[in-house]
Amino acid sequence: MTAPSTLLSDRLQDPRLIRQYAYLNGKWTHGEGGREEPVTDPATGEVLGHIPVLEEAQITAAVDAADAAFAGWRALRANERSEILEAWYALLQENSEDLATIMTLEQGKAIGDSRGEVQYGASFIRWFAEEGKRTYGDTIPSHMPNAALGSLKEPVGIAALITPWNFPLAMITRKAAAALAAGCPVVIKPSNETPFTALALAELGERAGIPAGVLNVVLGEPSTVSKVLCAEPRIRALSFTGSTRVGELLMEQSASTVKRLSMELGGNAPFIVGPDMDPKEAAEAAVAAKFQTSGQDCLAANRILVHESIHEAFVEAFKESMSALKVGNGLEDGVDLGPLIHGKAVEKAQSIVDDAVDKGATLHESTQTPVAGDNFFMPVLLTGITRGMKVWDEESFSPVAGILPYSTDEEAIELANDTEYGLASYLYTHDVRRIWKIMRGLEFGLVSVNSVKMTGAPVPFGGVKESGLGREGGPTGIEEYLETKFFCLGGM
Ligand code: NAD
Repeated sequence: MTAPSTLLSDRLQDPRLIRQYAYLNGKWTHGEGGREEPVTDPATGEVLGHIPVLEEAQITAAVDAADAAFAGWRALRANERSEILEAWYALLQENSEDLATIMTLEQGKAIGDSRGEVQYGASFIRWFAEEGKRTYGDTIPSHMPNAALGSLKEPVGIAALITPWNFPLAMITRKAAAALAAGCPVVIKPSNETPFTALALAELGERAGIPAGVLNVVLGEPSTVSKVLCAEPRIRALSFTGSTRVGELLMEQSASTVKRLSMELGGNAPFIVGPDMDPKEAAEAAVAAKFQTSGQDCLAANRILVHESIHEAFVEAFKESMSALKVGNGLEDGVDLGPLIHGKAVEKAQSIVDDAVDKGATLHESTQTPVAGDNFFMPVLLTGITRGMKVWDEESFSPVAGILPYSTDEEAIELANDTEYGLASYLYTHDVRRIWKIMRGLEFGLVSVNSVKMTGAPVPFGGVKESGLGREGGPTGIEEYLETKFFCLGGM
């Protein structure tokens, strides 16, 4: 194993949070074949450290460990599991600055956003620590004589959790806290771009008293890991957050073992602005909804639909607000947008811009001086966009915004729904009848009216259409990890 880089550990109050190993059965483990992969800082290109590439047998060993731990974990009383989760939550709080630093170094996001994500991610642990005490069953009025009927809630079994790089901490805790609270052991496969946040979470989990085998982190070639996890009959639930393309692949790979599937996939959010809105207020909200995490957010407002009567004023206000965003290394004070995750993301952003301009859109650039560095991409706006352009048809996942005018509420609804995705949508208007009509017409799992912020631990988060299956957070979030066992007591 390559000697640990000090680029990460030197910046931390507790350097022991940096683990360059997989975490199997409570042990920090090398890859048996000796293969490893570098993890780089997207802002500087520097190598932060290495992670092992596990062999198939080691991934199966993680499932063996989870299987062996299952009986003990489910047998704990709900309040005992809750105490362990509360201890994990407290450790996230105690180490919040280190966790935020790790996240910014490996993901690139502004340190303020990383701090926010630690709080957001930790909130799921606290929420599910409580919710795990309330997995009630039912009694059912009997339709038969001399019988008592009811149902129990039981943990579904081992859960595999596969997560993306854009929210390296919260996408893990949103799943793991619910699964663990329900009594399910977990095998986590984080993104290879952001493994150190996941490994720090495992280290804190161990300190919190999560027993060996209950929480495992596997690393390696994504297609190898998913092949083993999907084909493994002992894994009863697969929860994935990532692109629709990979989600569809995992659904196919899981078909032969008929797992419970939870899919949090891509989005292409519309942001509708009504004619009654103050253009400046609405434009500031749209800029916030578009550019967080440099646009690499499944909730990012990609297709901004503005009523024709305020379109011109809105575009001017948007440009001004966009130009105030400071791009740079996420560790620096005052930076709003960090780099994109890697060179391919920069190429994709440029191709979206080129495609739109070739097809007749107008490009508006930020007035800020461009930042030097391979992975930096300055925020831009495209006006005059139309269907058939990549900026309309694809999930952009970049700081490229597009604005289109519309004339009637019906047209706004039709344009908003013109996508295979159905995750988030935004609506800005103070007209109550318009709110009700448009909200009911939007084919999205989440509708946020007059607010950019919408997510949180109590919220049923998830999409319709090709944005996914199932909901995370809220009481429905724990249901993803529970089976309903019906019982009939005859001869009563
Ligand atoms: P991705 O689909 O490329 O990767 C997600 C995970 O799948 C990673 O762990 C990755 O290593 C793994 N993976 C990649 N290729 C694989 C393969 N061939 N077989 C098996 N596993 C594979 O997504 P990403 O680039 O990490 O994240 C961006 C995507 O995630 C966007 O589409 C975004 O909308 C989506 N996302 C959705 C939500 C949500 O809640 N709906 C939240 C965040 C991100």
